Amino acid sequence: MTSTLITGGTVLNTGPADVLVTDGVIVAVGTQLAVPENTEVIDAAGCLVMPGFVDTHRHTWQTAFRGVGADWTFADYAAGIHGILKPHYRPEDVYVGNLLGRLEALHSGVTTMLDWFHAAQTPEHADAALAGLRDAPGRSIFCYGAGYRTDDPIEAEVRRVHAAMPGDDLLSLALGLRGPDETTMDNVALDLKLADELGLRTSVHVDGLTGSRPVAALRERGLLRASTTFVHANGIGDDELRMLADAGASVSISPDVELKMGFGQPMTGRVLAAGLRPTLSVDDTPAVGGDMFSTMRTAFAVQRGIDGGLTAQELLQFTTIDGAEACGLGDRVGTIAPGKDADLVLLRADDLTVAPFSNPAGTVVTSGHPGLVDTVLVAGRIVKRDGHLVGLDLPALKDRLLESRDRIAAAAGVPLDGTWRPGTTT
Ligand SMILES: [Zn+2]
Repeated sequence: MTSTLITGGTVLNTGPADVLVTDGVIVAVGTQLAVPENTEVIDAAGCLVMPGFVDTHRHTWQTAFRGVGADWTFADYAAGIHGILKPHYRPEDVYVGNLLGRLEALHSGVTTMLDWFHAAQTPEHADAALAGLRDAPGRSIFCYGAGYRTDDPIEAEVRRVHAAMPGDDLLSLALGLRGPDETTMDNVALDLKLADELGLRTSVHVDGLTGSRPVAALRERGLLRASTTFVHANGIGDDELRMLADAGASVSISPDVELKMGFGQPMTGRVLAAGLRPTLSVDDTPAVGGDMFSTMRTAFAVQRGIDGGLTAQELLQFTTIDGAEACGLGDRVGTIAPGKDADLVLLRADDLTVAPFSNPAGTVVTSGHPGLVDTVLVAGRIVKRDGHLVGLDLPALKDRLLESRDRIAAAAGVPLDGTWRPGTTT
């Protein structure tokens, strides 16, 4: 039995309190706790102790091209990332992108992340993506988008990956559906049948921007599931949102990407009005930053601008317990309570950028940033301490990512000086 006591901090929604963790599980939250012998002590003085963030949708394999799409439209992104760069990705590139992308998320306090993988040109690419997640000490869901934007059969490949999943409690498999905007409804039905048989949660991109009413079409075929997360969906009707609520499904809103790339307003307020709980996601780091602080801030500011709605407390729920529920992990993570796994983040509340810390939720949402993330625990394991990820040769890994980026860019013949506009130059 191993125990850790996080002491002297302020626990979100509780106040000054200690947190006792035994064998990766929170066993007590309070003061004057009875502590076993040989307990490791983490001094949390000056820190806010909060649940780790949950990102419900990120295309992590694209990490090497961070920032190149800052000015892009969605057409630029589709042409540039999927049409021009992706064909030059080797499995090694997928591996190092997924590993560094997952590490970046951990570094900024994202303890649970769904990797929405859609670069599976070969089985080796899928294996490399999974290996990248496995080698980062976070809680990850490998959402395997087999056959993305094709009508090809995927059953044998999904069964292969399912059978090869490591018996790792922190790494699970989901199926990235080809949605009704991307393939035939018969294929959607086949993919869902396979997911149901294998017990996999699913995630699907839909837009509805052309009046296609994808959610209504899925419901008509009996294809709405509580275990499906709908990504973006900005163009769907309020009646379709209520269909999702009736089905118990979940949604993933990527506020920065949706605003920048022409998807429409993030539908945080509409989702709440329909009786659903929003979750938030980064989506892709070529276009936007990879941390949940800025993601929350955008969602917050936009909804306040639309109707004055939302509170900082709600934003933190979207990025913790609501995200956990959408990943099927609501009973394991997302709150700080006895019986939950110890996925915890210690934020420096005494940093010059946030002190004095009078309103924890409000300050995190309006002023939080990755530089505050002092310590991160995943299932009780310390993966970041004193501001540094532990047990990693980060300089060597960053060199590998740089080599990967330079090789792919050279092979694709694209400049990396901020001038590349794929939608207009190719
Ligand atoms: Zn996406």
